[in-house]
Amino acid sequence: MNDKQQCCELIVRYGNLSRYEHQCPRAGTYEHDGKLYCKQHHPPTVKVRRDKANEVYTAKNAVAMAAWRIERAAPDLLAVCKIMVNDVGWTQHSPTRKALLAAIAKAEGTDD
Ligand SMILES: [Zn+2]
Repeated sequence: MNDKQQCCELIVRYGNLSRYEHQCPRAGTYEHDGKLYCKQHHPPTVKVRRDKANEVYTAKNAVAMAAWRIERAAPDLLAVCKIMVNDVGWTQHSPTRKALLAAIAKAEGTDD
């Protein structure tokens, strides 16, 4: 392969006690700032790939954080439900009271 057509990216690999560098062997078919890159190392393509990965991470993290907040609040919410179901003057067939009882049963695993 002609060096002028080779990707300019320097690849670094680490062994047990060694460090090995070599130029990417792929063809440099994408130009950026006067240098040639393969598709994998082309800086704008790398940025698009990283931005997309960050978006996926951010979305997954938001879902995990929401679940964690609910999990953290669950004991307090259950305690409040138990207080409300007994202390508030609900009528026997109040939909709110039924919802509270159902939520308590679900939380305590007695809803089956
Ligand atoms: Zn490359």
